[in-house]
Amino acid sequence: MSYDLVIRGGRVGGAVADVAIAGERIAAVGGPFEAALSVLDADGRVVSPAFVQPHIHLDKVLTGPLLGPNRSGTLSEAIALSHAVKRAATVEEIRERAGRVIRAAVLAGTTALRSHIDVDTIGGLKGLRGVANAREDHADLCTLQLVAFPQEGIWRDPGTDELMAEAMRSGADVVGGMPHWEDGLDAARRHIEFCLRLAVEHDADVDMHVDETDDPYWRSFELLIEEAARLSWGSRTTAGHLCAMASWEDAYAASVIARAAAAGVMVATNPPTNLMLQGRGDAEPRRRGIPRVKELLAAGVVVGAGQDCVDDAFYPFGSADPLQVALIVAHAVQLGTPAEIAAALRMVTTDAARLLRLPDYGVTPGARADLVVLDAETERDALREQAPRRWVVHGGRVVAETTVERRLHRHDP
Ligand SMILES: [Zn+2]
Repeated sequence: MSYDLVIRGGRVGGAVADVAIAGERIAAVGGPFEAALSVLDADGRVVSPAFVQPHIHLDKVLTGPLLGPNRSGTLSEAIALSHAVKRAATVEEIRERAGRVIRAAVLAGTTALRSHIDVDTIGGLKGLRGVANAREDHADLCTLQLVAFPQEGIWRDPGTDELMAEAMRSGADVVGGMPHWEDGLDAARRHIEFCLRLAVEHDADVDMHVDETDDPYWRSFELLIEEAARLSWGSRTTAGHLCAMASWEDAYAASVIARAAAAGVMVATNPPTNLMLQGRGDAEPRRRGIPRVKELLAAGVVVGAGQDCVDDAFYPFGSADPLQVALIVAHAVQLGTPAEIAAALRMVTTDAARLLRLPDYGVTPGARADLVVLDAETERDALREQAPRRWVVHGGRVVAETTVERRLHRHDP
């Protein structure tokens, strides 16, 4: 049989194997396979399923240079500055910024992303239009899910309920949410009920920002689990950030985590931004705003790891590189054993794919040929060295490649 593409001699799950691709799919793994229109010589490099970015804000990326100076250095001034940028933004400018980060993500080995996009009375649906245009511009490189995200709250920002419904009618794929931004738990419950109702109406997944605060008062995760379970929507629901969980009492946290596992609700942790933002008011030792990832994993909850921000009002760094996110997660959560390192990598591959509910994901016959060849012989070396992404394959076609040339110049002493 003749294949369109063979990736020859790579490491697949620890064993050396060829990966044969026909059309958009993996036809066979093993080999050696001979006849192919083109061949990539992986030469012992790791062949991984392509990275998945489960949580990013493409409407806000690269707004850092557009923000005025933050004179007080506080989060509240950062929010005020970001409102000014959001008000002034144009669809075309959002499209251009989002496109730059999409291309960086693909070069880093990502072929599927989920982006939250602000939907509120400040920017209306400009963000959604801009990022949807960027998605069209890059349809050959990756798939992109758009989350309608009420960043300013729904009841606190009157009119957002109608904008959310309009966003879902005009191209958003996923219903977002931000219940802890409302005025207390009752309003948060109504926020969650509104979002779930909208999701069921549009047969859409749910992916909310949940309890992104250090304040242990916020327990809206429990309300979200309850409502998702009531509507049998748990396996289509993801809760992002969950910073307050770190401040909850152990017994309460354990009970909520067990309920999340039972309902099938998934979690997106975003340590790059949250390590930077949370615990700012604490004396030492300070909280780090990371959810209880080890406990979530032990309970069987699917956890993905996201970039969240790239150079915006909330976070000055970020390069949309899931391998960097996995390394930050490994440090934040203290994942160091071989099994834990594998878990950190699953958070930007297999488990992130489950959050996005991507069908046919993996390096296995019949799966979509979305792959990244890492310039390392083991996954741990890839993570440790932040290895170059030798080739990135999307739908059976090579969409990016990286070669790095470094030379040491030795001199006599
Ligand atoms: Zn976020």
